[in-house]
Amino acid sequence: MSDRIDHLLNETRRFAPPEALAGASATSAALYERAREDRLGFWAEQARELQWATPFTEVLDWEPPHARWFHDGTLNVAVNCLDRHVEAGHGDRVALRWEGEPGDRRTLTYADMTAEVKRLANVLTSLGVRAGDRVAIYLPMLPEAVAAMLACARIGAVHTAVFGGFSPSNLRGRIDDAGATLVITTDGAWRKGKVFPLKPTVDEALREPGHGVTNVLVVRRGENEIEWTPGRDVWYHDAMAAADAEHEAEAFPAEHPLFILYTSGTTGKPKGILHTSAGYLTQTAFTHRHVFDLKPESDVYWCTADIGWVTGHSYIVYGPMANGTTQVMHEGTFDTPTPERPWQIIERYGVTVFYTAPTAIRTFMKLGRQHTQSSDLSSLRVLGTVGEPINPEAWMWYREVIGGGTTPVMDTWWQTETGAIMISGLASVTTLKPGSAQVPIPGIDIDVVDEQGEPVGDGDGGLLVVTSPWPSMLRTIWGDDDRYRETYWQKFGDRYFAGDGARKDDDGEIWLLGRVDDVMNVSGHRLSTAEIESSLVAHESTAEAAVVGASDETTGQAVVAFVILKQRFADELTVEESEAVLRKHVAAEIGAIARPRQVFIVPDLPKTRSGKIMRRLLRDLAEGRDLGDTTTLADQTVVDAIRSQLR
Ligand code: ATP
Ligand code: MG
Repeated sequence: MSDRIDHLLNETRRFAPPEALAGASATSAALYERAREDRLGFWAEQARELQWATPFTEVLDWEPPHARWFHDGTLNVAVNCLDRHVEAGHGDRVALRWEGEPGDRRTLTYADMTAEVKRLANVLTSLGVRAGDRVAIYLPMLPEAVAAMLACARIGAVHTAVFGGFSPSNLRGRIDDAGATLVITTDGAWRKGKVFPLKPTVDEALREPGHGVTNVLVVRRGENEIEWTPGRDVWYHDAMAAADAEHEAEAFPAEHPLFILYTSGTTGKPKGILHTSAGYLTQTAFTHRHVFDLKPESDVYWCTADIGWVTGHSYIVYGPMANGTTQVMHEGTFDTPTPERPWQIIERYGVTVFYTAPTAIRTFMKLGRQHTQSSDLSSLRVLGTVGEPINPEAWMWYREVIGGGTTPVMDTWWQTETGAIMISGLASVTTLKPGSAQVPIPGIDIDVVDEQGEPVGDGDGGLLVVTSPWPSMLRTIWGDDDRYRETYWQKFGDRYFAGDGARKDDDGEIWLLGRVDDVMNVSGHRLSTAEIESSLVAHESTAEAAVVGASDETTGQAVVAFVILKQRFADELTVEESEAVLRKHVAAEIGAIARPRQVFIVPDLPKTRSGKIMRRLLRDLAEGRDLGDTTTLADQTVVDAIRSQLR
């Protein structure tokens, strides 16, 4: 991938931090300097912000590809997220402002959450769960999901959260792979105006013997009828009422396993990523504080990710709660009962920091700005995005329409594997470029290299690598250390291969180009999906676009685009007109080489359940192949709709 990627984003807009944030900038800017001087010393200082039972004496023990951070220290992760805030006099601070889809509301303070987690820790112990045992959490966006994760952490059990939309076989696969002995679930949750049952999925998943699950703990939420297996199934509220309120937390070694989480499965079979305790907590808390300029005393933070994905782990539960943040949590979907819902929530709670995904932003764009206008969004002061490259058009829309033209938009690059944000500006310091993830955070070493591992120069593109171990890095793939070595470390030795393509601009700042597997080779030219998609989305008629390279007799690969039109254009233009306009538009913007061979106007795109476009399925469709692993596909009917379009 040494060829220059020439055409990317001639983006010249620049946005300095607003005046209001300038106060924080000196401290934040000093972090870069401190980390450059003494990287390990810098991380040790960040780790000392946590409450340790036994202080560590060694920062890093690195035997590639295995790292141990702060390994001779001990602490309790849940105590760091809860008890210590209460002990510091912040027990009355709100931890969660939860809103159910039907409009019911709950407010839980740090004292409330601490009490809940202590009881739940006793419940788990009474059900036979011991330190090191695995607990599957199959819960939607309920405060109990946060409590469940922290109760596991409190007793040293390893949680594996499974997204609530997964099928019985997906759930069973994860239960078996992790060797879980307890499942925590709910009768049902509200979604799109109805109760969506979850317990039946657990029943189905456990129907065939051969698993190690002895109990299912059931939170009552949907109040829907469910089957009950006596002896195995336990109501959460009954067990909690019977449990002791006091719980003495034990300290665990810094490297004690915290959770296993399966990746989204965008590129293939999901990997069971193992994270451990102190390093993970250090980096999630640090990045949450500095990337978003978060002030626990005054901010109201809302991260819209589902608790079942890594963003929910790192930026709802661990980072924010280690920082003692007040946050909003919302059950259900954004368009229920109307598309005004997210904006009403922001107004109601005075949300100041909002963190969401490009897919959500593009959906808001597709629906139109009119829905945002009846709510007062002026409380917002910092916005964030994660999950996919955000094209400059969507970035600008987010800043202008949601952020009132003044808020910084933090594009944060990271992965399930990295555990925490790796590349992003800092809200109070960085002059932002729409579409760029900017620079590694302080204490993180990143490079862009060619196939041979040679760093590329500024202005060039290649493969993204992390060149030094970092505190919140994955420790292995659960039960498959060989796959861990092969996937991330075989290619470049002791440098971590992220699997993403990137470009350094003339200032050395980083632009993500999409997954390495998705880079196209057209007549010997390397083209990135992100680049062409950006160009398509920059056209006024386009709401969302996905681009793949399909094999082509003359050019090797040809660009094939799948486009969703904005509603009013879909009504106005014929399919043929749209295709012609968009092919011409890309050729004019990027060059003839990038002109799509075909543009398919489609009603929807295949996405993972975490909302990422599955380009590999589009490639299969474009080349007329059978589809690869579709277990993480959110909606099977989408591929059928596209297939009928291709004929
Ligand atoms: P799998 O590894 O199973 O294919 P996945 O990579 O989709 O699944 P995640 O760990 O949830 O699973 O996603 C991480 C990936 O998301 C990154 O490798 C990158 O491709 C993409 N990504 C995340 N944030 C950004 C961002 N800010 N800009 C560009 N891409 C991003
Ligand atoms: Mg991945």
